Amino acid sequence: MAIRDIITAPDPRLKQRCKPVDKVDAEIVQLMDDMLETMYLAPGVGLAAPQVGVTKRVIVVDVSKDEDNRNPHQMANPELVWTSDEMLDYEEGCLSLPDHYAEVTRPAKIRVRYLDRENEIRELEADGLLAVCIQHEMDHLEGVLFVDHISKIKRDLILRKLTKLKKQLAKEKARGKSRSRQTVSAVSTGT
Ligand SMILES: [Zn+2]
Repeated sequence: MAIRDIITAPDPRLKQRCKPVDKVDAEIVQLMDDMLETMYLAPGVGLAAPQVGVTKRVIVVDVSKDEDNRNPHQMANPELVWTSDEMLDYEEGCLSLPDHYAEVTRPAKIRVRYLDRENEIRELEADGLLAVCIQHEMDHLEGVLFVDHISKIKRDLILRKLTKLKKQLAKEKARGKSRSRQTVSAVSTGT
């Protein structure tokens, strides 16, 4: 397994519709395992393939939040076959929108059909945080972020802050690099 880089918004790669998986083969299983490891490290409770730059319909979810008692779900081509009329408001966050949260309303209970890591068709019924999380990750496969469910004013505010943060990090990175270059040149002129 390997840790992959998580893409943060705004980024055009997070706005694309992902392609279905033909078959869950060794490459997809590798992707699923890498995504799970990346998610646990972050730490997070869900991750979708486009968040690591892969435009395929693959998601991983684990809401157990207990390292000794993990309960991961790895899904390819997830589709909702039933949703409840009952709705649930939940304060959502996202590894691609770090440190920002907003309340989103979604169906409280769902049934999802998907391909598991053995390429078998499975169905899972979920409610509570698991249902929220699966729907959130499935949105990513359509290029939809949780901020797309809230008002434009709030969305623009969050995306503006993230853009600013990205620029700041890029600047710091560039400064860090030039600093280490200066150190190297100082050392070489000293000798
Ligand atoms: Zn997300």
